[in-house]
Amino acid sequence: MAEHRPETLAARADGYVCRETGAVTPPIHPSSTYARDEQYEKIGGHRGYSRDDNPTYDVAEQLLAKLEGGAAAKLFASGMAAIASVFQALSPGDHVVVGRDMYFGTSKYLREIAIPWGLEIEFVDTADLEAVERVVRPGATKLVYIETPANPTWKITDIAAVAAIAHAAGAALAADSTTASPVITRPIEHGADLVIHSATKYLNGHSDVLAGAVVAAREDALWERIGKCRFLAGGILGPFEAWLLLRGMRTLYVRVRHASDSAMRIARHFEGHKAVAQVCYPGLPEFPGHDIAARQMTGGFGGMLSLRLAGGGEAAVAMIRKVKLFVRATSLGGVESLIEHRATIEGEDSDVPADLLRLSVGLEAVEDLIADLEQAL
Ligand SMILES: *Cc1c(COP(=O)(O)O)cnc(C)c1O
Repeated sequence: MAEHRPETLAARADGYVCRETGAVTPPIHPSSTYARDEQYEKIGGHRGYSRDDNPTYDVAEQLLAKLEGGAAAKLFASGMAAIASVFQALSPGDHVVVGRDMYFGTSKYLREIAIPWGLEIEFVDTADLEAVERVVRPGATKLVYIETPANPTWKITDIAAVAAIAHAAGAALAADSTTASPVITRPIEHGADLVIHSATKYLNGHSDVLAGAVVAAREDALWERIGKCRFLAGGILGPFEAWLLLRGMRTLYVRVRHASDSAMRIARHFEGHKAVAQVCYPGLPEFPGHDIAARQMTGGFGGMLSLRLAGGGEAAVAMIRKVKLFVRATSLGGVESLIEHRATIEGEDSDVPADLLRLSVGLEAVEDLIADLEQAL
């Protein structure tokens, strides 16, 4: 039988049924250590200790690898643990090109930890392909790292074009696809070698788990080192979190599609609104990068959008105080809609415009969400 579609695989937890008990949900394995048999061989294969691997990960990792069209996936303690392992898998002195527009935590990690550790990192606007071409050094650059759509302006990077530049120089391409999720974009199909998720967000989807994941297009030497970084540095996920994550992933497709449809309706509603200077949403035809987005965001344009208010920073702060339904909180990708003033949250080093409010659209009735934003404006 032909391989099923991704939403079928997700709904069925990759077809899981326990052969011993008939259970349709996989068990949680809290064991920290694993026994050997009378021959002193590992029972059932490869596990010795839970920092190496945990059987609770198996279904979630295999499912995520399939959803992304990759060869393998690994779960991590958080999105940042996943990201840190990708950079740690490189060596001090390596040259790396990183997108300037990205999740604030990643750029802070790179500036405060990865650069002092010895990586030579150049930040560049990856939406500008000529700029990427200028900084990539053939034979020397080991990794190009992008985030698309990028927090919190949702700037679009052309994954296939950047992959071609990276590969021509002998570098791998890693894409943080947290805000898209595999429902919207499958970066490996566009040439990415690694896909990174803060699984805290859409993959889990219920704002109750902190988790991360890396998916690899191939199980090569870089992938092996990333696995070593998880095992030796210990940024592994707890089995209870892994179990909750798999439960969340089973509804990934309905959640993301609903959020994406609602975000599009909200974007259209507030486009041209007198209090709104700009709606940042890749689904709007006027949005810079929309044509690229339409090519690589094949499952919709996602549940994230930002509003830039005509009244500037003061208007943005006034509005966020007035919302009644949107929850004033950081993070994204949960069932409840969130609103955030990124400039306040990021603090002094932030270059996010003060007039910008970031919305994570959840699963509430879109009419209620629009009414809430209207009354707050
Ligand atoms: C939240 C987030 C991260 C960090 O993930 P954690 O699970 O919070 O560690 C990384 N990248 C993006 C795009 C994010 O939104």
